Amino acid sequence: MYDLLFQPVETLISLKQSANAALGRLGIEKVRDLLFYKPYNYRSIKVEPNLQDVRDGDEIVITARVDDVQINHRQKSLTKVYVTCKSGGILLVFFNKIPTFLFVRLRVGSTITITGKVQFSDGYLQINHPDFVLDKKTITPSEPVYNLTYGITNRQLYSYIARAMDAFEISVKARLHLIKKPLQESNIIYLDEKKYITHLLDLLKNLHKIKIDTHIDEVAIRKELSALELVANQFALSQVKTANEKNEGNAFRLFHQEQKFILDNLGFELTSDQRRSIDEIEADQVRSKQMMRLLQGDVGSGKTLVALFTMLNVALSGFQTCLMAPTDLLSNQHYNFFSNVLVQNNLEIEIALLTGKTKAKERKAILEGLEDGRIKILIGTHALFQENIMFKNLGYVVIDEQHKFGVQQRLDLINKATHPDLLVMTATPIPRSLTLTMFGDMSTSQIKTKPKNRLPIITTVVPSTKRLEIMESLQRKLAMGEKIYWICPLIDQSDKSLEENTDEAYSYADVTTSAIEIEKYYPAIVGVLHGKMKPQEKEEIMQKFNSGDFKILVATTVVEVGIDVRDATLIIIENAERFGLAQLHQLRGRVGRGPLQSHCLLMYNPKRTSKIGHKRLAIMKESNDGFYIAEQDLLLRGAGEILGTKQSGEPEFYFTDLVEDLKLLTNANKIANELPRNELTLFQVKLFARDNSSLAKSG
Ligand code: ADP
Ligand code: MG
Repeated sequence: MYDLLFQPVETLISLKQSANAALGRLGIEKVRDLLFYKPYNYRSIKVEPNLQDVRDGDEIVITARVDDVQINHRQKSLTKVYVTCKSGGILLVFFNKIPTFLFVRLRVGSTITITGKVQFSDGYLQINHPDFVLDKKTITPSEPVYNLTYGITNRQLYSYIARAMDAFEISVKARLHLIKKPLQESNIIYLDEKKYITHLLDLLKNLHKIKIDTHIDEVAIRKELSALELVANQFALSQVKTANEKNEGNAFRLFHQEQKFILDNLGFELTSDQRRSIDEIEADQVRSKQMMRLLQGDVGSGKTLVALFTMLNVALSGFQTCLMAPTDLLSNQHYNFFSNVLVQNNLEIEIALLTGKTKAKERKAILEGLEDGRIKILIGTHALFQENIMFKNLGYVVIDEQHKFGVQQRLDLINKATHPDLLVMTATPIPRSLTLTMFGDMSTSQIKTKPKNRLPIITTVVPSTKRLEIMESLQRKLAMGEKIYWICPLIDQSDKSLEENTDEAYSYADVTTSAIEIEKYYPAIVGVLHGKMKPQEKEEIMQKFNSGDFKILVATTVVEVGIDVRDATLIIIENAERFGLAQLHQLRGRVGRGPLQSHCLLMYNPKRTSKIGHKRLAIMKESNDGFYIAEQDLLLRGAGEILGTKQSGEPEFYFTDLVEDLKLLTNANKIANELPRNELTLFQVKLFARDNSSLAKSG
């Protein structure tokens, strides 16, 4: 239905290659993309004004007769055209060579329509580099202003949009006219095709000022479109959820006795939130339904144990299970922890580690072990799982620290032959409201409390001018046998990973230089860790830090995710002003993992810390609560950055601004849950689905 919308722009408008390429750069491929291309501003234009009333700087559209054309022969590209309209004369100045198809219109005596900004020059009205208006339909007293790229002008883009709108309107009329039997009528526009499509058309025309209804302003138009978009988003996710609920999964047995032994050996007692999360997962595990669950838990809340216990249920039930981690370091850590637990508790379960570092021969053996079902637990990096690993009977997939794991991957998993359960564990505390748009198709479990005897981390904010004093003060922690992270944004001074790092005087701290300085004070106990090192090296360094050969680890943000060294009690972050809140919180979560009092020192360069920067640091100082910090982050930065949607391929919204529209979201969720699956609702999903998103396909 309304297939026109989903066809390439070229099927509707014949475009030159350069224009087509320009549209491509703007992300416009289909007719729908044109209609949904949101103006970022509007400028008002005086249409056919009386020239006596025109002021310097006004934008006008004027139809006038050509009186004279003067081409400057020394400067070939400069053309002056004198024209007259009803209320007076005006001079048009073209600085660039005029394309032939336009130039032919400039015959003396002919009438042209021109638009541009007026200026007074020697008492004469003048428009420099005016635009020709070829299609009078595109004349509007308020012109949308679009983000552009080279190869396309605002007016050109506008004319394409106007044509697309025309075509859409025709197809709407034709369809509404053609349908013989009365359409379903409803007060809910999402159920009534006529109301929905007329409303949509109306909003789009207003958005692009092809029609101007005075009762609805620009903000309201965007909000209304956002409401439609959010309902579509929520409906799509509910569809994924329903599809998933229909899937028969595997039922597993529970092994509580084993869990108890493990806890005793670790000397742990589960926190109540860990217990509840495990209960929730287990309730799904004993049912033969496929589970899709998000486990949210702040850094250090003990998600790994939840994964371990629920994975053991699966392995001991005779199925295979895998844990994916984002880095080699983290995979190693998980592997070591799991292996130790298995050995300590005499659990004879075969476990394997698969990372980029795994040698070909070993790798082959592992792949065989997975295929014949011998290996029950596999731990590895995300990247590896993009290849085709054959499992004999994969029952449960756990993904650690990966909030960017998209809807498409979820669907792929749903569709795997054995319908494995899925647990996505995220430490990036996503505000509740946002989980709805990203994970609305999943059940959620939350760990809010930290294990007992944890003291809140004390955070201090200091200017980098105090650097030497800080360095000297490390002595106190070291004397007590505690360990220290020292974080810098760069690897060395040649590290160009931060674009802004051009100005010598303000350059960021780097690991290499800092390590040398710290070594002077504390020789032989300083380790260095950064992303350019080989996995093997990284692992060795981590091991030495763990065992205490190194007491100070100078590192980049590679230690950001998941690294667990329990007696590290101080983290110093240089140039804290350049990190986002979520990242700072993650980094800070590297300490405070044991019963000892931990500290976090945020060092900032006073010369480059903005007002917002100071605000961010103040939020860190004031709170240890990841969810609170995430909400604040959302307010300060907007949603896209938090979710990393740009890189992740998650659908970005056309009209929705998650910060502004959170209220709409809850409402959309309610509406969407009531909608039936029919031609109209599926159309809505398709209408707002980005093409790379799986939502379109799920419909
Ligand atoms: P995260 O949720 O950030 O992944 P981890 O699972 O790495 O947290 O756990 C952080 C630390 O807390 C680890 O050292 C872990 O062994 C420890 N831990 C986990 N659960 C408990 C518990 N119930 N009691 C005491 N310590 C625990
Ligand atoms: Mg973790």
